Amino acid sequence: MYWNKRSNINLNDIFMNDLKGKIAVVTGGNSGIGYATAKRFKESGATVAISGRSKERVEKASQELGTKGYIADVSDLGAIDRLVSTVENELGKVDILFVNAGIFKPAPVGQITEELFDHQMGINFKGAVFTIEKFLPILNDGASIINLSSVNAYTGMPNTAVYAASKAAMNSYTRTASTELAPRKIRVNSVNPGPVNTPLFGKTGMDEEQISGFAEAFQNRIPLKRFGTPEDIAKLVTFLASDDASFITGAEYNIDGGVIINPLLS
Ligand code: NAD
Repeated sequence: MYWNKRSNINLNDIFMNDLKGKIAVVTGGNSGIGYATAKRFKESGATVAISGRSKERVEKASQELGTKGYIADVSDLGAIDRLVSTVENELGKVDILFVNAGIFKPAPVGQITEELFDHQMGINFKGAVFTIEKFLPILNDGASIINLSSVNAYTGMPNTAVYAASKAAMNSYTRTASTELAPRKIRVNSVNPGPVNTPLFGKTGMDEEQISGFAEAFQNRIPLKRFGTPEDIAKLVTFLASDDASFITGAEYNIDGGVIINPLLS
């Protein structure tokens, strides 16, 4: 905690978006971007609940973070119902919903199976839509919903046709939902990260060598020449969650080291 003695101002209040008194839920909060954001929400004063699929990982993360931890697979609508009623019973109404849970399953066109399609869409798009649908009755008026999308929604990166479409669908949904929820002053925004250093890539089925080759090739295309960190994304999400962003809705923020600019020369 840093105090400016002469003016008696707590500098943390200036540099950190204030979430004091707010109740926040982070889906997929036991890992990567969700974990870093739950941490930042907590540090900014919110009471935080994380959810995830693995009991062991959720318990470990929630202990480390000092948050509530709940098990809920977002592709299972009954599990989301149970999550919502537990959150309502234990924490009450919600002010911040970070719809973060997602998977990245690359597959080339021509080898897209129905199973892969349903799995990817079932978590990234259907899971996101029904997370919001089911939390809506327990969201406070003036709440902030942040959807974790991706710059892939705008790129033609090989092997990502279904993943990219799941995120493009999310961004379209964000715009429409923001107009419909505006009468309740509920704000809905999307965040589009470029590549971020998280365990996501290790869950794709690629081996270590493929991942590091992919990472190197990717990094060279990024004007700022680095992957993002989960904390980079957490800072933007925390801003959108806060009242400092009270005039922002239906918007999308790219946070990608400039990769979406697609420079023709570098
Ligand atoms: P991660 O694998 O570390 O975290 C993903 C989280 O989602 C985990 O907690 C996981 O348990 C959870 N999750 C996955 N399927 C779930 C389900 N069915 N039900 C509940 N929880 C589920 O990866 P990450 O990079 O932190 O990913 C978070 C989000 O960021 C995803 O939506 C991803 O698409 C998006 N994203 C990541 C990157 C990147 O480069 N890492 C870039 C753009 C967007």
